[in-house]
Amino acid sequence: MSYFDNNATTPVHPSVIEALSRCCKEDWRNPSSPYRLASRTKAKLSYAREQWSELLKVNPADVIFSSGATESNNWILASYAQNSPADATILISTSEHSSVSEPANFWFKNRVEEIPNQTDGIVCIDSLIRRLEESRRPALVCMIAASNESGIVQPWEKVAKLCQERNVPFHCDTTQWVGKLPLSDLHHCSSFTASAHKFGGPRGVGWLVDQNSTRLQFGGGQEGGRRAGTENFPSIQAMAIAWEYCLSKSDDLEARSIWRDQMEMDLLDRIPGTKVIGGGNRRLWNTSFLLMPEFQNLDWVTGLEKIGFEVSTGSACSVFSDGSSPTARTYSLNPMEVKRLVRVSSYLDHTHEDWRELGDAFVQCYEKLLSNSKDSRVISL
Ligand code: PMP
Repeated sequence: MSYFDNNATTPVHPSVIEALSRCCKEDWRNPSSPYRLASRTKAKLSYAREQWSELLKVNPADVIFSSGATESNNWILASYAQNSPADATILISTSEHSSVSEPANFWFKNRVEEIPNQTDGIVCIDSLIRRLEESRRPALVCMIAASNESGIVQPWEKVAKLCQERNVPFHCDTTQWVGKLPLSDLHHCSSFTASAHKFGGPRGVGWLVDQNSTRLQFGGGQEGGRRAGTENFPSIQAMAIAWEYCLSKSDDLEARSIWRDQMEMDLLDRIPGTKVIGGGNRRLWNTSFLLMPEFQNLDWVTGLEKIGFEVSTGSACSVFSDGSSPTARTYSLNPMEVKRLVRVSSYLDHTHEDWRELGDAFVQCYEKLLSNSKDSRVISL
């Protein structure tokens, strides 16, 4: 099976499985316990935190290991709600993942403003500046760095700078960015997130960098007293090993976007009427969000799976919620179009050849769907 749904989750790399298993055998003790082997685990935990803090150019105390991006995003929204005046507003982009938009609307009910977009789906910086310069500033600005659906990259570096200059906290959902693009400027955001399973690590572990010292989870002194609960050291260690693998493959990842672009051009040519969502924008090099000219996305997913390719209809998270897609809203897609969206997302081990084969598989699937639909028309006559 050729797996092209890496924005949902990535396969766990063998070196990560090995590290996780070793750690469960050797470093399973509670890091807060008073004996030598527990202290060793505690020291390793501190080392992991220091490594991330160096990579991310932030204070070790601001790196908080969490269960992943959903928890981290929820945490930020809840803590700003608790620490802001009762009538404070927040600004969020229209492309937010539901782990930002839902807690935003829960905690700041009727006090969430959307940052307007340009027609290409990129936030309108001029509108943002105007809003930031009003006398009543937002308590927080939230923006996704790169869309999990379309891969569209938002100008988060610019937004971070604008917010920094005006002393407005900026939370950036960098879940899809980490493991695909450089970490070097992330420290300009007040807070930002990662989930290890988006870059070859295990599920249920990630981090939140929060430079504003918010504290949410009470009941123990772990994570500097900011997130109580026994630390998940084996997974934290496995996440570090996943990162090492990522680094070993990270030379010029963005140049790989050409493989994706060539596949898209091939499809536009061989399956007339196909559209690429966000095609003119800077996108994650691994992602393509396609609006197919006919047949429902589940027909495409099933058809492609039969010939050995796993792709998706969009965000895996929207399967559980109301099914709405931020990208569909941004691009004003109608319900029929939403049902024709197919997302493909590669990762580190994919080659140019894999993308070429995926393009051929789409064409093969199209021919099969066309012939099935002709057969069913004949039968229904
Ligand atoms: N934000 C973005 C942009 C995501 O893609 C995801 C995962 N789809 C999340 C947040 C939530 O991550 P997790 O499910 O690992 O908590």
